[in-house]
Amino acid sequence: MSFPSGKHFLQIPGPTNVPDRILRAMAQPTIDHRGPDFARLGFEVLEGLQDVFKTRSKIVVFPASGTGAWEAALVNTLSPGDRVLMFETGHFATLWREMATRLGLDVLFVPGDWRHAADPELLESALREDRGGRIKGVMVVHNETSTGAASSISNIRQAIDRVGHGALLFADTISSLASMDYRHDEWGVDVTVAGSQKGLMLPPGLSFNAISEKAQKASNSSAFPKSYWDWQPMLAANKTGFFPYTPATNLLYGLRESLCMLREEGLDNVFARHNRHAEATRRAVRAWGLEILCLDPSQYSSSLTAVLPPPGNNADALRKVILERFNMSLGSGLGKLQGKVFRIGHLGDFNDLMLAGTLSGVEMGLTLAGVPHCPGGVTAALDYLASL
Ligand SMILES: *Cc1c(COP(=O)(O)O)cnc(C)c1O
Repeated sequence: MSFPSGKHFLQIPGPTNVPDRILRAMAQPTIDHRGPDFARLGFEVLEGLQDVFKTRSKIVVFPASGTGAWEAALVNTLSPGDRVLMFETGHFATLWREMATRLGLDVLFVPGDWRHAADPELLESALREDRGGRIKGVMVVHNETSTGAASSISNIRQAIDRVGHGALLFADTISSLASMDYRHDEWGVDVTVAGSQKGLMLPPGLSFNAISEKAQKASNSSAFPKSYWDWQPMLAANKTGFFPYTPATNLLYGLRESLCMLREEGLDNVFARHNRHAEATRRAVRAWGLEILCLDPSQYSSSLTAVLPPPGNNADALRKVILERFNMSLGSGLGKLQGKVFRIGHLGDFNDLMLAGTLSGVEMGLTLAGVPHCPGGVTAALDYLASL
């Protein structure tokens, strides 16, 4: 490819394609974040977010990547030395564990094979053994972006309730919010962590904590030192529509537009669209004769699919061919999956023909990179898309 004409295909599982409507909304003059017009924007996004998280509780917005919201969730609710339980679902769960360890939390890490979601039965037995109530928090990555396996947060909640354990429940929805069904209140989540650059279709730079009343109470006795991430000044300023320090004003313009788009489409339709594109993608992968990394069909992610090329074929070499020939970025294998998988992002602002283009690029790339496969993946996906 000598000159990259046409649009780049950004088919990584975040950041996702930012719709023109959002780009235009962000291209407005920055306003005084302490002036009278700002509060309207502040209230509008803080209220609008509640529908997306499905909560009546408070949501705080940080000018930060998702990693910042991970840290905020931990340092506002817990204290150094607290024991927490996390599941090794993949790379992101491992990174969150590393952060918790560095902060001085005592992490019980339930081992996993990076091909399955978090197991509620293992959680239940771990909590039953915790007779002294030492475990203060349970952290689950809802949609493990490195593997394409999604955990059932409602089953996790039920496991905690069966034991009657008092631990706080934390869910990372960075790659599932506004792409896959999620219910902060109904599922009894105490802190939901999210980011702007995936299902919300925004550029990177905003992240979120949705906070239950129980989590707010826990924050009163949390002994972690904190300043930038402290919920209290945030919640206090948010009462009048403002922020304690300069917010990312233009990203908030984009967020207002994103919330508008999600309302127009309807969240249930957004989820159905993601389910449909995920199923079409899996049909393509199966027709190629390639393996889907996630082993349990009930755990398939609707925002991305991680694919294993046959042994001896480097996934990064394939991704390189696809980028150079077709100007399309696919997700790389992360952590111990480096070079072993490629990930097709099908979340955010996306439609049938974008998926058709994406899968066509993969199918041609497989041929060009000499990866053994059967033809017909694109056809299988198109047949499915045309059938409903
Ligand atoms: C993308 C992602 C993160 C990391 O978010 P950053 O914005 O890169 O800090 C964490 N967890 C999950 C599940 C993700 O998909």
